[in-house]
Amino acid sequence: MFTLVGDPVTAVGQDIGGQNRTNLYRVDGRFIELTTDLESREEAETLVASFDAAVPQWTGFWDLADDRVAGWKVTAFVMRDKQAFASQGLIPIRVPDFPYGYALNDSVWIMAQPSQYYTRHLMLHEGAHSLAFHCFGGAGPTWFMEGTAELLSTHSGQGQQTKSIGIPNDKADVPYWGRFTKMSQVRAESTIPSIGKVMQYPPTLSGDVESYTFSWAAASMFAAYPEYRDVFREAANRGRETSLTFNRQFRQRLAKDWPIVQARWRLLTHDFDFGFDWDQQQVAISIQDPLWDGKPIKFTVEADRGWQSPGVRVPSGVKVRVRASGQVTLAQEPKPWISEPEGVTIQYVVGRPLGQLIACVLPNQTPRQDELPTIDVQTIGNQSVVDVAAHSWLLFKVNDAVGDLGDNGGSFEVTIEP
Ligand SMILES: [Zn+2]
Repeated sequence: MFTLVGDPVTAVGQDIGGQNRTNLYRVDGRFIELTTDLESREEAETLVASFDAAVPQWTGFWDLADDRVAGWKVTAFVMRDKQAFASQGLIPIRVPDFPYGYALNDSVWIMAQPSQYYTRHLMLHEGAHSLAFHCFGGAGPTWFMEGTAELLSTHSGQGQQTKSIGIPNDKADVPYWGRFTKMSQVRAESTIPSIGKVMQYPPTLSGDVESYTFSWAAASMFAAYPEYRDVFREAANRGRETSLTFNRQFRQRLAKDWPIVQARWRLLTHDFDFGFDWDQQQVAISIQDPLWDGKPIKFTVEADRGWQSPGVRVPSGVKVRVRASGQVTLAQEPKPWISEPEGVTIQYVVGRPLGQLIACVLPNQTPRQDELPTIDVQTIGNQSVVDVAAHSWLLFKVNDAVGDLGDNGGSFEVTIEP
């Protein structure tokens, strides 16, 4: 797959930390030429193989013909001792100081991290910027630039098995990555940014994990829903534009859907976590959902899906009586866990019994403010009355961790009536 250039870049290696003589060396791949002082040459080779495995997935994601990257090759520097690279003139003076990584045209610089995953993630992140510069002439405003780079760099596996564009299943797979940890902190502080605020992040973030996290979440959402995906991908072609023009056009193309975008964003930022799976978590709501006329509606709530709607919007000032029955299965091992709508009180998830039927009153209009109010989630169980203050969607799900839905089965029968 790649050839090794075994010679040190310099004639003599650098002395790092006195005793350890460490050479800069080069590993050459198809889309990347890596110069590094990593202790493990195996890690360096894996980085190169990972990058070469990711690029075809990226061109697939952007729907780019192969010839668009035919002559593209990134000159990459993964550095333990930044000074060693600087002193050899490998970091141009116009590259600003950076805590994690930096991309300039076809060159990228990355600081080696305490985990191989995170070093690889940052290398892919900067490489995704470089691809955008090469193919689109720019990477768009901050949220789009960082969001897409995070989308393309969040991966599983390594080397030739690298699978780009995924949501990690397990914290142990992505040491030092920290995006979901940051998101749960922000959630706990009740300072979740609106999608509007995310889209107006300032141009220089310089390692601000919170902004990277929410930019990534936004990119993940726009790439996941079929009705946004094309608009999102096509926006990349306007990577050169100012953020004002870029954002205005982006919003115009989704103008009809924007209240839905805002509502789905609220749900996503409430729930996004390890094991989140868009096939289970897309929320079927529409601005065309009719206002509920008060006739009883019977519907099912599946145990293996995220928030589910009975298909109507509930007018303001209505008290909704909800009744539920049935059984769901929440795990298969060591034996099937059965739950009724009240849930099983031997295990709790997000403060409520596992398997409990819960509801979310999600207003049709998202307040115009930078930080979103906490989402209103309520216990339903066998029956309950929900007060709807403003025009809202009334959504239901079976309480479980988002990463644990795969082994769930069955559904509750739910009826709503005034
Ligand atoms: Zn970046």
